[in-house]
Amino acid sequence: MSDQRVPDLHNVVGGEHVTGRASFDKINPVDGSLAATVQEAGRDTVDAAVSAARKALDGGWGDTPVNERARLLRRVADRIEERFEDFVAAEVRDTGKPAALVRQLDVARAAINFRSFADTVASAGLDSFLTELPDGRRALNYAVNKPLGVVAVIVPWNLPLLLLTWKVAPALACGNAVVVKPSEETPSTATLLAEVMAEAGVPSGVYNVVHGFGPGSAGEYLATHPGIDGVTFTGESSTGSAIMHAVAPSVRPVSFELGGKNAAVVFADADLDATLDGLARSVFLNTGQVCLCTERVYVERAIFDDVAAGLVEKARALKLGRPEAPDTTTGPLISGQHRNKVQSYLDLAVQEGADVLVGGGVPDLGDDLAGGAWIEPTLWTSLDNASRVVREEVFGPVAALIPFDSEEEAVRLANDTDYGLAAAVWTQNLERGHRVAQRMRVGMAWVNTWYLRDLRSPFGGVGLSGIGREGGMHSLHFYSEPTNVCVQL
Ligand code: NAD
Repeated sequence: MSDQRVPDLHNVVGGEHVTGRASFDKINPVDGSLAATVQEAGRDTVDAAVSAARKALDGGWGDTPVNERARLLRRVADRIEERFEDFVAAEVRDTGKPAALVRQLDVARAAINFRSFADTVASAGLDSFLTELPDGRRALNYAVNKPLGVVAVIVPWNLPLLLLTWKVAPALACGNAVVVKPSEETPSTATLLAEVMAEAGVPSGVYNVVHGFGPGSAGEYLATHPGIDGVTFTGESSTGSAIMHAVAPSVRPVSFELGGKNAAVVFADADLDATLDGLARSVFLNTGQVCLCTERVYVERAIFDDVAAGLVEKARALKLGRPEAPDTTTGPLISGQHRNKVQSYLDLAVQEGADVLVGGGVPDLGDDLAGGAWIEPTLWTSLDNASRVVREEVFGPVAALIPFDSEEEAVRLANDTDYGLAAAVWTQNLERGHRVAQRMRVGMAWVNTWYLRDLRSPFGGVGLSGIGREGGMHSLHFYSEPTNVCVQL
């Protein structure tokens, strides 16, 4: 059961807890109760946070030896594990996700993120080479990697701690100081991480937190701040576009992980049981609120009915309920506002002529949960790529099932989107698996699996799904500025 005490979450500036210009309520999406009150940062607080970060950077953090930074990051990972259940409680309170999922995915990955980037930065070598010109001159070239500087980290609510640490860990590994702006829907774990940073011995000012909304609030003030040296952002494509405009006058680098409308392509030779397990996970994990989730399922016509029936069965087996209940598989959406958006897409699907196979509305889970942001897992057929619900990101536990007749058609349909984040190909013909995966116009393509990650691999999207790649050395490249030194010998 949840803690009765409602926390009042403060901004964290140079290690100090700071009140804001106003306070707003964070609502628990499980039942509509008050989860926390949050201090919204005004422009002055964002100014102070950027100044604190600059001071920490210039005060020595930027020159800290790599091994010392790696040691501190490992200490942060240890401390996250020591306070594991505090993080679980905070994340569950904000999101309503099943506690088991938060343990297995969100909090576990936060510790892994810090260890992984500690290892990457500690083992990264530098390039150097000899230049020999036709006139006989010789020179030694090498590069010195420096931090980018003060990095603005703006993140969404769907995997709050996981996505925050995915950016903060490499940024700190490279010697940057950060000002983070968690989503207004999930302010808790970013605030708790500030405590862990201090406990691990990370100097104050290296990690700062400002709370609030996007436009006219902390998000906009941070993205437009002249004192930042770059923005790393995860969220909606339209927000990415707004941030790009915001940083354009000062020409700052951006790394954007944006929305998706991801396809699964299921061939008739796929292992049906394994495919149904994988498909169900890819459509319904985290109530469909993972950027990588599948919302378009293209199925070879010979097995279309079997896949549709199997997936409906999986949807019916999901158990919506309180996060702490051991049999809960599926939590609510993040908020009533997001539920209204998802519901409007379900209504639109029907208006566009969809045959709804399962779900389509708000479930009745009893009086206890009536104030929550619940939605039924939903599948439909009979719409093609021309329909708006097959083109626009819904970000809920929903998918369209669409038949195809040839490999060529499947590739064309899967790539017929403005997004380009992820795809999954299901087939026992591995040659075809490789071939089709390579033809997907996406950042990540899986074969016979989904969301299996090695943190050294490049992560990001094409088209509306983002700019740049993070992960392993890709992250180190974004979060550092190399200076080439050329010495004539
Ligand atoms: P969002 O874009 O609404 O908000 C993300 C963050 O940006 C929040 O902290 C918000 O306050 C802030 N923000 C909003 N407007 C801003 C502005 N004008 N200037 C500065 N900051 C602003 O996204 P969301 O609803 O929180 O998250 C869901 C979206 O995130 C989905 O589209 C999903 O696909 C995407 N996402 C992408 C990835 C990825 O890796 N590609 C991962 C997770 C989520």
